[in-house]
Amino acid sequence: MSTKTYREKRNFNKTPEPTGSAEDADSKVFIVQEHQASHLHYDFRISLDGVLKSWAVPKGVPTERKLRRLAVETEDHPLAYADFEGDIPEGEYGAGKVIIWDKGSFELLERTDKKIVVALYGAKLKGDFALVRFAGKEKNAKNWLIMKVS
Ligand code: MN
Repeated sequence: MSTKTYREKRNFNKTPEPTGSAEDADSKVFIVQEHQASHLHYDFRISLDGVLKSWAVPKGVPTERKLRRLAVETEDHPLAYADFEGDIPEGEYGAGKVIIWDKGSFELLERTDKKIVVALYGAKLKGDFALVRFAGKEKNAKNWLIMKVS
């Protein structure tokens, strides 16, 4: 796991986002960033394998059960991104304002290729949440569903 794709997409002379040179594999943090890019979305990230595994959630992470929201897997981000808030300049990848919508620790309850279940301890998101990969035709399907399960 690495943040190579993350770094390749960005010009760190222009964007205030972290380069993520220092990784800490032991941290267990989740974060949801509200990102006012060309389309408003929420970036859900959890620290796994020394990076922040990331999904873009167009309609936001559901706070009640029985709602299932699309979560599109995006490139791994450096752990330092969990502290990032700021304005990504016009013309740069992901241009727009990023603010932290929720943040906290989490416990990993289940993890397979198709399913990740976590207990979140945030200010807004509390309880168990599941990410389930679509049974898509494409080999590298990036589409998941995120839902609150308890
Ligand atoms: Mn984003």
